[in-house]
Amino acid sequence: MDIAGIDPAVVAEVECETSELLSALIQIDTSNPPGDETKVAEFMAAWFAQRGVTGGQIVGEPEHRRSFVLTLDSGLPGPSLLLLAHEDVVPANAADWQVPPFSGLIRDGYVWGRGAVDIKNLVAAHACAAARLAASGGPARGKLVYACTADEEEGSVGGARWLVRNRPDLVRTDYVINEGGGHFLERAGRRVYILESGEKGTAQFRLIVKGEAGHASVPLRSGNAVVAAARVVEALVSHELPLVIDDSSEELVRLLVDSPALRERLRDPRTAREALAQLARRDVQLADMIEPLYGFAFSPTIVHSNSAAVNVYPTRVELSVDCRMLAGHDEQEVLTEVRTALDGVEADWDLEWVGPVVRGNSSPYPTPLAEVLGATLERYVPGAELANSHSVGFTDSNWFRAAYPDTVAYNFAPHLVEGYDEVTPRYHNVDERILIRDLAFQSLFAEAVARELLS
Ligand SMILES: [Zn+2]
Repeated sequence: MDIAGIDPAVVAEVECETSELLSALIQIDTSNPPGDETKVAEFMAAWFAQRGVTGGQIVGEPEHRRSFVLTLDSGLPGPSLLLLAHEDVVPANAADWQVPPFSGLIRDGYVWGRGAVDIKNLVAAHACAAARLAASGGPARGKLVYACTADEEEGSVGGARWLVRNRPDLVRTDYVINEGGGHFLERAGRRVYILESGEKGTAQFRLIVKGEAGHASVPLRSGNAVVAAARVVEALVSHELPLVIDDSSEELVRLLVDSPALRERLRDPRTAREALAQLARRDVQLADMIEPLYGFAFSPTIVHSNSAAVNVYPTRVELSVDCRMLAGHDEQEVLTEVRTALDGVEADWDLEWVGPVVRGNSSPYPTPLAEVLGATLERYVPGAELANSHSVGFTDSNWFRAAYPDTVAYNFAPHLVEGYDEVTPRYHNVDERILIRDLAFQSLFAEAVARELLS
C-alpha cells in the first residue's frame, strides 16, 4: 500500500532506517521487571550523536532506569511538542514464540520481537522523525522534544512520572503525542482512526472477608469465610453499576455504529446496556471497545484463603478486584458502589486499595493538535476520519495531564495497512511484530505533524 503524496523512494528509505533501529532496540532486553532501560537511553544518545544531533540528555533515577530526552529548539517563539514513548517492555517466554523474542528478526515484511508494537516501534519512529527534522534545519518555530522513558509497564515510579516532577525544564510542552491510539477500524466503507484524548484511572481493591476458624469436619452454619466470599463475588458481579455516557464513547458510537436506531439507544443510559448486548451480537469487537467506556466495572481476579489445610476453616479470604474509573470520576464512587452492592450480603468484610489509586484524566478535544493530526491523516489516507475516545488502560500521558494542566496529551500513532483487530491482539502477547510499512508510516506521520505544528 503506497502512502498518498509521499515519494516511494522516501518511504523505502524510512522503512530501512526505522526497521534497522527497531530491530536493534528489540535486541536490548528491557523486560520490566527489572527494566534496565539505561541501556536504551545510552543507545539512543549514541544513535542521535552518530547523525550529528547532539544535546540530548540521559536523565532519571535509579541509575539503571534512566530516560533519554532531546530538544530541537528553533530559538523562536512558538508551540512546543513532545514525542513520547517508553523504553521498557513486558517479559516474554521464548518457548511460546515462533522466533526468539529479543532477536529483532526482520522477516516477511515485519520486524519481530518484544516491543515491536508496545512500544519500541514508537521509540524508533519518533527518533527517525526527529533526526530527519534536525537534518533539514529543525523546527521553523517553537521546539520539538523527543523522549524515550523508563518504567511504564510496572507502576511508573521512575520514567515519565519522575521526569514531570523533577525535570519540567526538559519535558513541559504545550503538546504531547504518546502511544495508545492510532488503530483504525473499517465499518460501512469508512476508515476511522481512534485518537485517545484521555484514559481511565485505576482503583483496584482487595476485600478481606473474615470468618471463624475451626475443624472442617464440623459444618459451620455460618461464619465460613469461603462461603461468604462466594456471596460477595456473586453480589459484586451482578450489581448494576451506574452507566455513564460521555464524550469518551460518543464519537465511537456516532462514527462506527451504522444503524441510526441502535445509535440512539446506545446514547440513552436507560437503553444503553440492552443496546450494547444487541451490538455485541453483530459486532463484538466494537461492543468490547465501547463497553468499558460506559463507567467502571468490578472484575474479581484473585481469591486467596489463609487456610493451610483442606480440613481447616480459614479466618480470612482475600478477593482482589480490578476496577477502572473514567476520567472525572473518583474512588469515593467506587467505595459507594461496593457498599451498595454488598448491602444485606451475609459477610464480614473490609476494603483496602491495591497499589496507588490513580484517577483518570483527559485533555480537551478538539485542539490545534487534533486539527493537525486530522489534516495530516486526510493528506496521507484520504477519506480517513478521527474518532475521539479514551484509553481503557493506562499510559504515561496521565502523568503529563496531571502535572501540567495546560498540556494537551493525545495517544496517537497511526498504522496504515494493518487494522485494530490485527495489531491490538499482539500487545503483551507472543509473536509480537509490526509491519515495516506501518512502522515507516508512524515515523513519516510524526515528522509531518511536527513540521506542520511547528511551522
Ligand atoms: Zn506501552
